[in-house]
Amino acid sequence: MSLVQHKEAQRVLQIIRDAHKEHGNLNYGSVARKLGRDPKTNSRTVAQVCDLLDAAAAYAGVPLLALVKVKNASDIINPMAWKKNVPAGIRNKIIERSVNHSFTESDFDAIENSLVSLEGLGNRRAWERVKKLRPDLWEQLSAPPFNPRQDAIDDFGSDEPDQHEYSGAKYARDPKVRDEVLADANGRCEYCKEIGFLRPNGTAYLETHHIIALASDGVDRVSNVIAVCPSHHREAHFGARRTQLERELILLVKERDWV
Ligand SMILES: [Zn+2]
Ligand SMILES: [Zn+2]
Repeated sequence: MSLVQHKEAQRVLQIIRDAHKEHGNLNYGSVARKLGRDPKTNSRTVAQVCDLLDAAAAYAGVPLLALVKVKNASDIINPMAWKKNVPAGIRNKIIERSVNHSFTESDFDAIENSLVSLEGLGNRRAWERVKKLRPDLWEQLSAPPFNPRQDAIDDFGSDEPDQHEYSGAKYARDPKVRDEVLADANGRCEYCKEIGFLRPNGTAYLETHHIIALASDGVDRVSNVIAVCPSHHREAHFGARRTQLERELILLVKERDWV
């Protein structure tokens, strides 16, 4: 049973991956059809396969993928999924986190690898294993969602570095890098050289910007992080001149005399 389920899970993961690229929608019935099964009698089987995929996602520390990507016949998230054995109040948070996450190729790869680690276990036993291996599972699955806005602009809200800790190792930020850059900027936007507005504690407010976004494989190093005023920070992300700004910021960092 579980061997079959694992093979199906590999295929369903690929189906979700393809649909994700094409921004297509899936439900248990359409997935059953893609697997060559009768959608009328196989929706439950597909739901179990999705549950196994989500155990693999949880094992990998990735938000639950199948839960939000494969819906029921009414094209809503299966209201039966995650009802049992889940602490009160956690279900909505789990869903919110998954819905707001932009799944990347590396997320898909991580789920695939975890599936191999859970080989031989059906969905229920796979979850038991994951719960045993990850004592912080509920906390992790219900962590505040990784806001897609923050995904795009990967470093806003850097005053709360904790917010990013659940977004996966790829985006983990080193607070030391941020502190070092801010200390050296000494309150002055490295781009416009203006002093940031004053905070209640008397220090000037600046934000740190990753010139090449972590999401685009930029590094979390002093050489890729610049201290800027809020206005230039937003322009670097959303301005018509953002590409040009990126080049200018790279030059500014190279010219720093304190590096
Ligand atoms: Zn500025
Ligand atoms: Zn930024």
